[in-house]
Amino acid sequence: MQKIAILYDASQVVMSTFELDEVLQQILAIMRDYFHIKNAAVMLIEPATGDLVVRSEFGRSRAHTRVPKGSGISGAAVRMKRPVYVPDVSKDPRYLMGFATTRSELAIPLIVRHEIVGVLDLQSDIVDYFDSETIDLLTLFSTQASIALENARLYSMEQRRARQLEAINAIAQQTTALLELDQLLEKVCEQVLERFQVDQVAVLLLEGDDLYVRANYGHLTRLLPAGERVPLTGLAGRALGQGKSALENDVAKFTGYVPGCAETKAELCVPLVFFGEKLGVLALESARAQGFEPSDIQPLESVADICAAAIVNSRHFERARTLAYQDGLTGIFNRRFFEMRIREELERAQRYEASLSVVMLDIDHFKRLNDEFGHLLGDEVLRQVSAIFQQHLRKGDVVCRYGGEEFAILLPQTTGDNAADVAEKLRRSIETYHFPGVARPVTISAGVADFPEFGKTRDEIVSAADTALYQAKQSGRNRIVEATLSPKTS
Ligand code: GH3
Ligand code: MG
Ligand code: MG
Repeated sequence: MQKIAILYDASQVVMSTFELDEVLQQILAIMRDYFHIKNAAVMLIEPATGDLVVRSEFGRSRAHTRVPKGSGISGAAVRMKRPVYVPDVSKDPRYLMGFATTRSELAIPLIVRHEIVGVLDLQSDIVDYFDSETIDLLTLFSTQASIALENARLYSMEQRRARQLEAINAIAQQTTALLELDQLLEKVCEQVLERFQVDQVAVLLLEGDDLYVRANYGHLTRLLPAGERVPLTGLAGRALGQGKSALENDVAKFTGYVPGCAETKAELCVPLVFFGEKLGVLALESARAQGFEPSDIQPLESVADICAAAIVNSRHFERARTLAYQDGLTGIFNRRFFEMRIREELERAQRYEASLSVVMLDIDHFKRLNDEFGHLLGDEVLRQVSAIFQQHLRKGDVVCRYGGEEFAILLPQTTGDNAADVAEKLRRSIETYHFPGVARPVTISAGVADFPEFGKTRDEIVSAADTALYQAKQSGRNRIVEATLSPKTS
């Protein structure tokens, strides 16, 4: 009767929680408090290998935290699907020496329906410590413990699924608002890292036939930084080639593996596909072997689908924006772009107390050139002049077609004197360039003004540069004039 009471109490305790770690703690507490056992461990079967791995223990720490499939007394209990009791371990060749003092060992399989999920392993320093009544009671208790473990497992799966659904939802919400590709990829990586159990997230995008790292975030040591080309022999190449997710839970076993990070042990590559078009790969890495569950694949595929749609979206946006700011004839930026950038650059110059120059340039006697050589050749000259300007300017400089045959150049962090030198260099290269089909030199005039000397606003500076350009025209063309504080009137 008292034993039934113990069993009842014990069952109540293990069933009182759904958290796996708490269930394990309760099982061990019962071993200690109800059965007065000094050394116990719950070992769970690792699905991928079949090994028994110590998940929770009390008493002295075990020498073997992993027992290969089928070995030891615990392995025997799994194989035989019933409790195995060895009253004197020194006489049993199956015994794996853990503690020098262990004399008897009892291993009871934890069985859920017909499947063994682990072993309750009990050891004692006393020969034949466990009597048959205790073994029966422990066996009965173990069936209760198994059910509690299974409940905890189901509960954690449910929780994981709920978290994954929530993650997919959040990623969908946060990415649809982002149109800049870099920002978008950063957000996707950040969200996947935060919400899925992965250590590194990379987005690899196809450019032509090659795959390049476009974003790479996480805690691991990167071997392939952003911008790097990824050989197609690896897992990402396989996912892309087959058009389906590729999972490698132990990368050491994959010949031809291309590591993305030094510590990577497991990797899942999900292709990014939009309406049949392959865009690239979402690569997820874990520092743990067996770091991915098969049930992770489907939610991450949903994330990849959202990501693919957002990438296509951002490319459309990028294209539309380029068109909006590009001059159709010359391919350089247009006046709308100039107006946007001069405001940005002025703000920046103000904030950092830096200088900023504006150069207004105009082709001399262009009307005459059109009249003499035809409008089509005039167009060609405009294209060539634009190309020459671009060649001679630095990356941070902004050259725009301001109107007809007029150009505006923004030179950040450049004083008026330096800008005049730049304009002079441009003037000379146009003057000396032989434009095919144009039998005489083409020349330009330019006016230069800088911030803050000639004004704090866009209008003040542009109008000072315009006035200087007018003076250049007035005083004979083919020259550069810097704005002066007391402009000469002519
Ligand atoms: P100035 O030295 O005083 O600047 O004389 P200009 O002839 O260059 O100046 P004006 O403003 O009188 O004439 C500009 C000419 O540029 C008139 C117009 O036909 C021509 N033009 C403007 N846009 C284009 C274009 O897109 N293609 C061609 N071929 N010509 C253009
Ligand atoms: Mg002109
Ligand atoms: Mg003009």
